[in-house]
Amino acid sequence: MTAIAGSSQAALQASHSTSAADWTPTSWRTRPALQMPIYPDATVLASAEARLRRYPPLVFAGEARKLKSALAKVANGEAFLLQGGDCAESFAECSPANITNKLKILLQMSLVLIHGAKRPVIRVGRFAGQYAKPRSSATEKRGDVELPSYFGDLVNRADFTPEARRADPAALLAGYTHAALTLNFIRSLSAAGFADLHHPEYWDLTFISREDLPASLRAEYGTMIERLGAALRFMEALGEQTVDELTRVEFFTSHEGLNLFYESAQTRQVPRRTGWYCLTAHMPWIGERTRDLGGAHVEFFRGIRNTVGVKVGPAMDPKELVELCRVLDPDNEPGKLVVITRIGAGKVHDKLPPLVDAVKAAGRRVLWVTDPMHGNGQTLASGTKTRSFDDILAEIERSFDVHDACGTWLGGVHFELTGEDVTECIGGADNILDAQLDD
Ligand code: PEP
Repeated sequence: MTAIAGSSQAALQASHSTSAADWTPTSWRTRPALQMPIYPDATVLASAEARLRRYPPLVFAGEARKLKSALAKVANGEAFLLQGGDCAESFAECSPANITNKLKILLQMSLVLIHGAKRPVIRVGRFAGQYAKPRSSATEKRGDVELPSYFGDLVNRADFTPEARRADPAALLAGYTHAALTLNFIRSLSAAGFADLHHPEYWDLTFISREDLPASLRAEYGTMIERLGAALRFMEALGEQTVDELTRVEFFTSHEGLNLFYESAQTRQVPRRTGWYCLTAHMPWIGERTRDLGGAHVEFFRGIRNTVGVKVGPAMDPKELVELCRVLDPDNEPGKLVVITRIGAGKVHDKLPPLVDAVKAAGRRVLWVTDPMHGNGQTLASGTKTRSFDDILAEIERSFDVHDACGTWLGGVHFELTGEDVTECIGGADNILDAQLDD
């Protein structure tokens, strides 16, 4: 499934370019492309790409510029970024209940953040396009049968059959359609006032009224909602100028820009503006596995005008990070580059300071965000993959400490989250144990 795997980091770095003159929406095709599907029929792929190029964009370039300005303020310490959503979206789960639950949890978290940080919060969902996933192995083996891994609904299907696991260009079009359906519903809900911050009681998630939920938890939630409402009313009574700004609700979209056929087909120039915009999302990001300097993903994302995120794990070398910043944000433009660190709670104190110091010393104006999910995975003896809530919290707290000590501002958090009633992490306030994960 992987087009070019195992290219050495050194070879990849040697071939990167920073010149705008030699970038086009398809210049990535000459680069090693990790985690990309190989489509069996080039003609069918080309026709899917041609249709995607003709379709209307999923987001407006003006919205992407608006997000970039908002993120410039975040980087400056005037606001905070909350980015979150499902690990992966699936076409089957594109339903009104799923979408509203996701918005509800983002709204609730943002209100808590507004209350705590006394700053506006910019909400960026991992939704309306989070349909492709990187995999540690290109193939999956069950007994004697080995098939391509499932790379997300944008690429193939999860059933363990050769047909389902074949990379299918029709899935690119289905991805566009489901992203459009999701976005349409989010935009209608927002326009209809669903997200009015004065009525947090409307955003109760269904499981809050579940009978077996401990009464103490329900009461705690109710008290928090009441307190937040009272705080808002108090600020308004004082004629606080910023209330309006604090409570204005907008959602921006983001996803990992993994499938470059999909991303580049929706990349275009817009009237009265210079440059190119990738209009599948307001803020695409490059994953930890595809951030090689000489690779196809960095080549593609260096050429677009949107804000771009890049995930950075514990193996990142400080010099390489500075170079990556230079390539992805040649003009050192405020709000352009979001560095999302996902180091792992146990390594943050060692690995994060040299990265932050190097970027600061190079004078790069990046927005620092912590993703406490992807560096804290663990596999239990049962084979279940999980994360400890305490590690998640520790990575956030330690990242704040490191940025404080380095004199930089940690401007946001990137979460995998869901509005559904799931048990995925161990520990936390309820002290969920390994054996309860099946609940
Ligand atoms: C993700 O955010 O879904 C992901 C795979 O993250 P990372 O690239 O940081 O591993």
